[in-house]
Amino acid sequence: MDHLNLSEHVHRRYNPLTGEWILVSPHRSKRPWKGHLDTPATASRPPHDPACYLCPGNARAGGKVNPDYADTFVFDNDFAALQPAVAGSAPALMDTGGLMVARQETGICRVICFSPRHDLTLAEMDAPALVKIVDLWASQYAELGARNDINYVQIFENKGAMMGCSNMHPHGQIWAQQTVPDEPAKESHHQLAYFQRTGHTLLAAYLQLELEQDVRIVYQNKDFVVLVPFWAFWPFETIILPRRAVPDITALTMGEREQFADAIKQITVRYDNLFKVSFPYSAGLHQAPTDGSAHPAWHFHMHFYPPLLRSATIRKFKVGYEMLGGGQRDVSAEVSASLLKALPAVHFKAL
Ligand SMILES: [Zn+2]
Ligand SMILES: [Zn+2]
Repeated sequence: MDHLNLSEHVHRRYNPLTGEWILVSPHRSKRPWKGHLDTPATASRPPHDPACYLCPGNARAGGKVNPDYADTFVFDNDFAALQPAVAGSAPALMDTGGLMVARQETGICRVICFSPRHDLTLAEMDAPALVKIVDLWASQYAELGARNDINYVQIFENKGAMMGCSNMHPHGQIWAQQTVPDEPAKESHHQLAYFQRTGHTLLAAYLQLELEQDVRIVYQNKDFVVLVPFWAFWPFETIILPRRAVPDITALTMGEREQFADAIKQITVRYDNLFKVSFPYSAGLHQAPTDGSAHPAWHFHMHFYPPLLRSATIRKFKVGYEMLGGGQRDVSAEVSASLLKALPAVHFKAL
């Protein structure tokens, strides 16, 4: 059998976190990669928008008024997808022949404003402001996770109109619920199996390999590494991995929180610089379930799933083969990583 050449042969790559495979067709991106630059969007937003329901001092749905907050601000989502449990009532169930199965789900949805400034994004905030966000993520994970009716806390950001985000004010969300949802459940399963087999976390071992090979690393600091995962699906997908295997961000030291904030800054600035546009993405933390058990197999991390492919307007869609068969990409993870790595670490608006 021939030796597999990752930049020549069509191949499948395994995602050890989820057990899924990605089809990679590198020959289709043989032509030299040309990032197409649209005219950069120059329309700037005001620092405060009287019509924005997330800006300080403005009214939200139902008449609640935001305080005049100075850094971050968290509140229960006025249009929550999950509703808290009613004390004393058992969850309703339905099971018809094992084919129509439903179970009542309870939880809490919150919104986190990252900044009082309407016109900023994570990429444009300074390090101390980003540390405040990390601190809030940690305290929210601890507070919500401590509840008996919350077994998983999903913290995420959906950024940009392309991702269906309707409000450009810098903000993220928390959906905390009774059940561990599918994506982290898959990762729980695979991390546990690896830990039981080897005695160390899957991502610690994976990170070691990435550091040795050094072909998919975009940025690293003292405590964190940003890289394009070997099994990435989205063209410029990245993962932020802590060097120290901790199950959740409450275990980070103050120094590590600063380094985490720095890693977030470094990747979001590079993303904006790639096509000179405020880069859309869905990003979020994967942390251990909060079911009261210890989870030594869990190695917390942050995923970035950006849809853009070749320009500020040309995006990848998950359609056709990808909906019916499985994930596929042309540009290899190694090429994407080298493109991101080569970008300036200073935001294009600041140049
Ligand atoms: Zn606003
Ligand atoms: Zn994950």
